[in-house]
Amino acid sequence: MSEILNVVILGSGCAGSTAAIYSARANLSPLVFEGHEPGGQLSITTGVENFPGFPDGIDGPVLVQNMKQQAERFGAQYRQGRVVKAHLTAKPIGLEFEDGEKLETRTLIIATGASARWLNLPNEQKLIGHGVSSCATCDGFFFRGKKIMVIGGGDSAMEEANFLGRFGSEVALVHRSESFRASKIMYERAQANPKIKFVMNTVVKDIYDVSKGEVTGVKLHNRVTNETYDRAVDGFFVAIGHIPNTLPFAGQLDLDPDGYIITHGGARTNIPGVFHAGDVQDRTYRQAITASGAGCMAAIEVERFLEAEGH
Ligand code: NAP
Repeated sequence: MSEILNVVILGSGCAGSTAAIYSARANLSPLVFEGHEPGGQLSITTGVENFPGFPDGIDGPVLVQNMKQQAERFGAQYRQGRVVKAHLTAKPIGLEFEDGEKLETRTLIIATGASARWLNLPNEQKLIGHGVSSCATCDGFFFRGKKIMVIGGGDSAMEEANFLGRFGSEVALVHRSESFRASKIMYERAQANPKIKFVMNTVVKDIYDVSKGEVTGVKLHNRVTNETYDRAVDGFFVAIGHIPNTLPFAGQLDLDPDGYIITHGGARTNIPGVFHAGDVQDRTYRQAITASGAGCMAAIEVERFLEAEGH
């Protein structure tokens, strides 16, 4: 096994790369593992218009690439790789990667994010960034005066539909069953919004039109009447939940029933030396800027932890 590292950062989205910038500038030579989605969720969006400091907006992939370059400038190293096993309570912490590599580190920042749950329709992935989105806050603005569709029946779907009502000419909220999982207050707010129309007991069969390079419509199926029909739509927002990427840490880290890390204050987890940053812990805000802030917090906690341990 090679030398013991000061800090390993898992994830290279806004949280991971901001943690890398801060810990690299503190001379901690962080090693960042990029994970299965290098650059995180921003790498699959188009324009980002709400990250402060860019009055004309910036492309998501460019923003995360810039953060990576900034971290590298101060000595952070980036590598491909995904943890399959972690020994978090060991001192030093032990990590095993899918290619068989093993590493030891004094501290760990888990910034593995949460992946949007998708419907897994034939054309869905091909149209992400071209009308298909999982983030109304990020992409709603691009659909001013357009026909919008939101999929889901939880609080996220209600919240996204309400938010999108500010932009779209209409918002169709499509839900697969008869009853909503959303809280009463969120449901009532959506119900009171004149732009939102509920389409119940309905599933999406396909999204068009890959040949035109943008969303133009969908094929819907009503599960009660058995009717299948097409509907024109410009913006297609999937809001059926997120899956936090915490599987290798289950049984060691305190996780909530959905798998999100439970914070123990600041960026701390229940295990000393193991810190969280970004969407892997945050199910509420889930923004690039909040993830970056969390990455900064985690790096500062790492610095203090190492100092207190005498390193
Ligand atoms: P959620 O509560 O798990 O709801 C997911 C919804 O998506 C459900 O209605 C589910 O339908 C539907 N769904 C799941 N898989 C689907 C599929 N393959 N096809 C079609 N529909 C599918 O997720 P969430 O809305 O993201 O909320 C997650 C948590 O965050 C909740 O605790 C929520 O309260 C919280 N949250 C809070 C706020 C707020 O308070 N401001 C905002 C957003 C989220 P079924 O009901 O039929 O299973």
